[in-house]
Amino acid sequence: LVLSCWTSIAKAEYLKYKDPKQPLNTRINDLISRMTLREKIGQMTQIDRSVASTEIMKKYMIGSVLSGGGSVPAQKASPEVWIKMVNEFQNGSLSTRLGIPMIYGIDAVHGHNNVYKATIFPHNIGLGATRDPELVKKIGAATALEVRATGIPYVFAPCIAVCRDPRWGRCYESYSEDPKIVQEMTTIISGLQGDIPANSPKGVPFVAGKKKVAACAKHYVGDGGTTKGINENNTVISWHGLLSIHMPGYYNSIIRGVSTVMVSYSSWNGIKMHANRDLVTGFLKNTLKFRGFVISDWQGIDRITTPPHANYSYSIQAGIHAGIDMIMVPYNYTEFIDGLTSEVKKKIIPISRIDDAVKRILRVKFQMGLFENALADTRLVKQLGSQEHRELARKAVRQSLVLLKNGESADKPLLPLPKKASKILVAGSHADNLGYQCGGWTIEWQGLSGNNHTSGTTILEAIKSTVDPSVEVVYKEDPDAEFVKSSDFSHAIVVVGEHPYAETAGDSLNLTIADPGPSTITNVCGSTKCVVIIISGRPVVIQPYVASMDALVAAWLPGTEGQGVADVLFGDYGFTGKLPRTWFKTVDQLPMNVGDPNYDPLFPFGFGLTTEPNKA
Ligand code: BGC
Repeated sequence: LVLSCWTSIAKAEYLKYKDPKQPLNTRINDLISRMTLREKIGQMTQIDRSVASTEIMKKYMIGSVLSGGGSVPAQKASPEVWIKMVNEFQNGSLSTRLGIPMIYGIDAVHGHNNVYKATIFPHNIGLGATRDPELVKKIGAATALEVRATGIPYVFAPCIAVCRDPRWGRCYESYSEDPKIVQEMTTIISGLQGDIPANSPKGVPFVAGKKKVAACAKHYVGDGGTTKGINENNTVISWHGLLSIHMPGYYNSIIRGVSTVMVSYSSWNGIKMHANRDLVTGFLKNTLKFRGFVISDWQGIDRITTPPHANYSYSIQAGIHAGIDMIMVPYNYTEFIDGLTSEVKKKIIPISRIDDAVKRILRVKFQMGLFENALADTRLVKQLGSQEHRELARKAVRQSLVLLKNGESADKPLLPLPKKASKILVAGSHADNLGYQCGGWTIEWQGLSGNNHTSGTTILEAIKSTVDPSVEVVYKEDPDAEFVKSSDFSHAIVVVGEHPYAETAGDSLNLTIADPGPSTITNVCGSTKCVVIIISGRPVVIQPYVASMDALVAAWLPGTEGQGVADVLFGDYGFTGKLPRTWFKTVDQLPMNVGDPNYDPLFPFGFGLTTEPNKA
């Protein structure tokens, strides 16, 4: 008896799922065979960090936590503070009966943008203008390191939306109106996760270890095609249109081993994507063979009904049946856990559906090594905002700039500007504003204004450090006409554009430059040779002012490294960027995309003048 007791204890101590030498599927099957329904449903639940704690993680056996929409510990929190927070939640998970690690996720969508002193890269629209998938892959790798530096293994990026209407408030999260460019830029996934090994079976998620993060292709599918660009609305398009415009990016993401896919709030021909079984289970999982996990958007299943949360048991049934595996922030997570438990007990949702979801979640966690390395590697802390990453971002800024006008004619260019001049004017609301350069989803969900929220270089600072020290640089945020006329400048640089925004708050029917931008252009360009730089998340109304400008540059949302703008403006590098989307004349032309029958843009898709760099 003593002997048999002893062997059974010894046996109990060997848990196959904890053995990294066991094959992945063996570990998954072993673990799931030990799990109760409560533990399974816990894995499917993702809660916001503001309601998480060690105790809650333990009590509900929660599978994932996130920092949604800039839900950050404190605005200027150091990487150490982030690590401490993530580890506290993780310790809760590790001390549960089965010790299944949670996975922490964050919106690192243009660098690790929620975090103070992180490198902020150009937003996706600017990366689309570079036409450089290898550069974008490097940005993915740098972002992964910065995210891991704060103890986080999972990002809700990339957004592979194909924005078909710039009135959409998320247009800047889209690389292009052209699905081919979006497909090419899925290299970011290989940068974030690492290159998938050759001969991997199709659709398996793959993250190459502790310096990489799990990625998330979002928002499946058709998010960028809604009528008038209204966020979270209805995309009216044929099956053929959906397949040829909005779907190709998912195909490429899956080939690259993307770990997760986020479902879109939007509808396709009136059916909410969160309830669309044909597209989530049928097409994504069965046809495209995606084997990672499908995550809902924030309160996505609640929003299946209008108003949201009106019939929760219906929402749970529809969302889980559709094929969603992890639920991001149910309105009330205990209500979700109880609700789903009772649907399963009533056999309305079969346990096989729950097991499919949990296996997918566990596959990602096992594959990426979370069972072996759940806690942060503090040696990565120095990666955050490193010089190397800032140089990479600066390079990306240079390549993202699109030169739309340069002097009266090709033989009389204004750019590049000379570094020696008597006196230059830098004017406009966006010339010295790091917050505006960084746009939405930076430090705060909706972005910020001003220079003291994070570290970087404004365009004004960059200009000052680039020109010859003898040059007098005069800066006027909002110059009045008198001041400008009475002065004699060699030339002026006007920097204006949009104020930051995110999601629905950015939906706009008029797409105007923020005041007093238009009058700044008129005043300055009316009296001085001027270069206008537009800081915006999309094409904006500029046709009325183009004639008065001597040169025009689309700089998109460049991020923290404003130096990249001065590098090109003063000829250390040439302009090479190409429009990733059509630039309209008037908003009543919208939507207007390349290939449309009555295509009559101000600047066509792909347009971009070039300059030669100055000889050293
Ligand atoms: C957005 C997602 C984002 C999520 C978490 C949602 O509102 O649509 O893109 O990943 O919030 O912050």
